[in-house]
Amino acid sequence: MEKPEILRCEGCGAPVPLGTGKDVHCPYCGVEFPVPEAYAQMRQAEVQRDVGRVEAHELFESLGDPPGFLAQAWGSVSSGCIWLVLWPFAFVVDALLIAKGLEIVSRNIGATLFDIWSNTQIYTGVGVAMYVTLGVPTVLGIYGRRRTKGKQHLQAALAALPPDREGGPARCRSCAAPLDVPDGATGLACLYCGADNLLRMPEAWVSKLRSSASKLVSTIEDVAKKDREMRAKERRSLAWQLGWLAIFIPVLAGFGFVLDRDTSTFPPQWSKAVASERLMIPAIRKDTAKWDTYFAPDWPADLGLGFFAFDKAERKTTAKGTVYFMRSYLVALKAGERVTFDSGDFPDGARALGFTFRTQASAVFGGSWQQEGEDVYLYPNSTASYVAPRSAWYRVDVLLVDDIAPDRQFRVGWKVGE
Ligand SMILES: [Zn+2]
Ligand SMILES: [Zn+2]
Repeated sequence: MEKPEILRCEGCGAPVPLGTGKDVHCPYCGVEFPVPEAYAQMRQAEVQRDVGRVEAHELFESLGDPPGFLAQAWGSVSSGCIWLVLWPFAFVVDALLIAKGLEIVSRNIGATLFDIWSNTQIYTGVGVAMYVTLGVPTVLGIYGRRRTKGKQHLQAALAALPPDREGGPARCRSCAAPLDVPDGATGLACLYCGADNLLRMPEAWVSKLRSSASKLVSTIEDVAKKDREMRAKERRSLAWQLGWLAIFIPVLAGFGFVLDRDTSTFPPQWSKAVASERLMIPAIRKDTAKWDTYFAPDWPADLGLGFFAFDKAERKTTAKGTVYFMRSYLVALKAGERVTFDSGDFPDGARALGFTFRTQASAVFGGSWQQEGEDVYLYPNSTASYVAPRSAWYRVDVLLVDDIAPDRQFRVGWKVGE
């Protein structure tokens, strides 16, 4: 059947919508005249066709409302902006949050993760945490943005044209015929050309996005099908991006593994140190550049009363002229372990040895050494002990505040127990 021309008002000649009754009411001049037979038939045919369009009605429902402010804003952010501006910022914030999280975990499990985990474990953990908290949300965010954009393009392509005159009806996006808009409708097909139109899209927003696709006579089902194909493609790219970003984890783990293979790290690996004979090692790294620095010998546990003496290099003077001796060791301890010192005779003039236990301030990155617990004082012919509050490397500062001659021997020994 040949479709008739767009119906014009008998009074003023403007294109007018048919309405739903027997007569046409011109919205411009108010003239009423009966709907011509050919137009009434066309209207009836469309009513019948419309009954069977279940999918179209669902789509009118789901696409009918214009995007909200946030969706419009998110849809207008470019991918380049996300990767170049937002991502690096989020990367830094995420890294700080992960460090903070590991710090809290460290405190709660009574262990300095920095010490007790191998580098492979730390870097793998950080890699997994960053992937989950940053990589996955970014990729999903970008996918969501593409979908938001896809939906907006679809909506803009289907949006009806605004009225051409004040007080007039919305017009078909394809043939510009006036549309009969029932109350509450979000979309409908044009009587003349059959193109589907969305009715609630704000013109100010649509005009920026309206494409040549708007001119095509197409149904909302066709447009939605193209969108589904696009979505399937985007999902494949989503999976690919998630997989690609996951490479980050083995790369970081490998970096940690390489660090672990370096046996010259200082302090040595905590896990190895607690697995073998306990040893207090000098807290300064042996280095050929420090050829003139004094290195105290390693001090093994469980030797009973041995000999301990300060070197002349360990004799210091404060600004006020007070003389003291100090030596620093490192010792690996597990949470709850008790270090017990035993003493025999001390040299004349030496009243007590003080031991200060310190761990690194940051449980994740190491850093400065902060005192853990009270100072331990060891007097001649007695014992004193210290309980490790967490698993970590400890720096033990041995202090004597009495001015004695260097190389005088203290009888002292130490052991580790529960
Ligand atoms: Zn008129
Ligand atoms: Zn049309």
